[in-house]
This record gives sequence, structure tokens and C-alpha cells, in this order.
Amino acid sequence: MRTDIKIGVLAVQGAFIEHEHMLNELGVQCVEIRKKEDLDNIDGIILPGGESTVQGQLLIKLGIMEPLRKMIENGLPVLATCAGLILLAKHIDNDSVTHIATLPVTVKRNAYGRQLGSFNTTANIEHIGDYPMVFIRAPYVKEVEEGVEILATVDNNIVAVKYKNQLGLAFHPELTGDTSIHKYFIDMI
Ligand code: GLN
Repeated sequence: MRTDIKIGVLAVQGAFIEHEHMLNELGVQCVEIRKKEDLDNIDGIILPGGESTVQGQLLIKLGIMEPLRKMIENGLPVLATCAGLILLAKHIDNDSVTHIATLPVTVKRNAYGRQLGSFNTTANIEHIGDYPMVFIRAPYVKEVEEGVEILATVDNNIVAVKYKNQLGLAFHPELTGDTSIHKYFIDMI
């Protein structure tokens, strides 16, 4: 497919390998991001699920936070899933610390409570169609600011948004066999 591009996958913690498998399946080159030099020459980046607090701390410690924020502000396409969405959010409803904070939305962490911490469902995503969604101690988007496109909702909660070069999902597209979200992201590049 697109042999001309290289996508970085943030690989400091969490479910990054599964995103690499998806990219491999689509024939797209990828590189694991573990230090700031790894950011050189990437055409897009994926922020995987995991634990946003740990990921945020590691981004600072490894010196990745500032350069990555600048790259995203300057238009680097980013696909953020679950904890990745929390990293991108400008506001976090139930956390005093924000991280990359380039996506003008308010997210709520662990938003579905303990009982419904993890569940699967299928819902429509704008531009993509019906998609099998896997939620694991997931956030949802509580509020969006101007210019943010809402791509999907589940039970009236926003679970997928797009703002310019930033695609944020509350669920885990890498844990399904469906590559259509990764394909859509690659087409954004
Ligand atoms: N609960 C995690 C957090 O708050 C996100 C969970 C996930 O990425 N699956 O960071």
C-alpha cells in the first residue's frame, strides 16, 4: 500500500504491539518511539491505550513530551486510542494533570465505572461505517470545543472525535480484526 510513509508508534507502555501488527497488515512501515530521536522523519504517530498517567510521566522523563506536542501543533497526524486520547485531551474532567493537551475536548477517565469497566459493542463511525468497538476501562469525551467533529457515540457518550490532524478514540481499534480505522488514519496523511 503506502510504502512512502513511516508511522511512529509510541512504545513506552501499553498496547503498542497490536497497532504495529495492524500497520504491518496494511503494508505500512512503522517505528517504535522510545526516545525523542525516534520522532525524526515520521509522517504520523499512534498513541496506544494503556495507563495515561504512566505514559505521561514517561513522555516527560524521556524528553518526548515537548517535541511531540510541537509536532502535533504543527500538523503531524495523530491517532490516539483510549489512554492516548487522555494524553491528547486539553482537559481531563477527573484528573488535575493534563499531558500533551492539543485536542480541544474534555475527557472523563474510567468513565463507565467498575461494573461496566470493559465491554464490546458495534456502532457507526462517520466516514468509516459500522465498527466493532472494544472498551477497556475507557474514557469518553464529555465536551468538545468549536471545530471538533464528533465521529461516533455509544449510549449518548462521545467515543470518537476528529480535530484537524488529530483523531481520538475511546476504544481499542487495534484489538479487532478490522483495519478500517488504521486505513482511514493513513489516508489522513
Ligand atoms: N484507564 C486508563 C487511563 O485512565 C485507560 C485505559 C486504556 O487505555 N484501555 O489511562
